[in-house]
Amino acid sequence: MSPSKGAPRGGEPYAPGSGDLAWSARHYDLELQYRMASNRLDAVARISGRAAHELTEISLDLVGLRVSKVSLDGERRTAHAQRPGRLVVRPSAPIAAGQAFELEIAYAGTPAPRRTPWGLVGWEELEDGAIVASQPTGAPTWYPCNDRPSDKATYRIRVTTEQGYRVVATGALIEESTRSGRKTRTFECRTPAATYLTTVQIGRYMRSATTDAQVPVIAYYPAALEHRVRADLDPLPRMLACFVERFGPYPFDDYTVVVTADDLEIPLESLAGAVFGANLIDGRGGEERLIAHELAHQWFGNSVGLAGWQHIWLNEGLACYAEWLWAEAAGTGTTDALAREHHQRLRRLPQDLVLGDPGPTLMFDDRVYKRGALLVHALRLTLGDVRFFGLLHDWTALHPHSTVTTADFRALAAKVAAEPLDALFDAWLLETALPPLPAAGARTGGRRARRAR
Ligand SMILES: [Zn+2]
Repeated sequence: MSPSKGAPRGGEPYAPGSGDLAWSARHYDLELQYRMASNRLDAVARISGRAAHELTEISLDLVGLRVSKVSLDGERRTAHAQRPGRLVVRPSAPIAAGQAFELEIAYAGTPAPRRTPWGLVGWEELEDGAIVASQPTGAPTWYPCNDRPSDKATYRIRVTTEQGYRVVATGALIEESTRSGRKTRTFECRTPAATYLTTVQIGRYMRSATTDAQVPVIAYYPAALEHRVRADLDPLPRMLACFVERFGPYPFDDYTVVVTADDLEIPLESLAGAVFGANLIDGRGGEERLIAHELAHQWFGNSVGLAGWQHIWLNEGLACYAEWLWAEAAGTGTTDALAREHHQRLRRLPQDLVLGDPGPTLMFDDRVYKRGALLVHALRLTLGDVRFFGLLHDWTALHPHSTVTTADFRALAAKVAAEPLDALFDAWLLETALPPLPAAGARTGGRRARRAR
């Protein structure tokens, strides 16, 4: 299937089969009927989109699910075809550049995670529930979409499933009803979200909420894990306060943590939330740094999003640096000592990674996280605390619910710096050899710096 004439495809150099630059989604309205016992999904997606170029086809990502009917702009039936990973809709007449359109897509199947170079991602059955962990290309395992991080849209997600299960999905719960033993819940998300950050979590969960934090912190977890969850999530209100002071206002209305009964290899952020496996919540704060890390993604990654995966260090470097900031605020270590310890470790690892464009294979390599955080620390030592934390505040204030590139970050840093930063950024981002860290303490101090400690 060839792309529309003159229309670019390949929205994502790191995931060449994903996304389409020829159009963008404005809103997804998803109606999901899900049967837990058989893992059966029957769904309708209504997508409001806009053509960036003249379209003779509309190309969407969809994995492992079968489309039964497509209707474009109210037509009774619109021609379409499916091939692995893709749904192509063929309008009866071309859609002009700039024109808005409405797609209604009926689809069904047994959703399952997809195999990717980064492991299995997407909708996944649990022992007694389901999770969606999509980073980077798992969203098409549960709905047809334009799956590129640069294409943010608003959502309304309606999920119907057996009574007795708790459902958590992206957005605020605005409506609940029960009929014939099945419960329907509607979630509305008015802040634009990247596809990979949208989620549905289903399980036999308890709910607890903390209201003494800057925003409500809500937790869903199996009853058997209650004590462990309460103990490990106890620092979250203080983490929120710590990060608000250092990064700027929290960008969403609340923060929701789901802890599954199953073990999960890694935790994962979603829009205004995160999911942790039971193994990561030990009741002794054993993975406290990960709780800080996922929370920090709400600023870096979820609100200030990526224009493309090659800029991944902006997400992971800043979230990793937030771990070290929290360690210092919690009194378990200083940011500078942690940075120097990780610098020593990185020096002993292969230095063959280009942080500013690591390539798809290495984009989730731990060295991207640590070298990214070390670049942030080098920048802090160069700018001094007042300018550095001012930069982070400006960064989150200038690009809320938007997308950015490494060049945007460099340009903003250059504006607040007293001296050129090109040599510093080039060495950390474009060279493979690990640069030395500047000496500590030279430029720290000032009113804001003292507050930040
Ligand atoms: Zn992360």
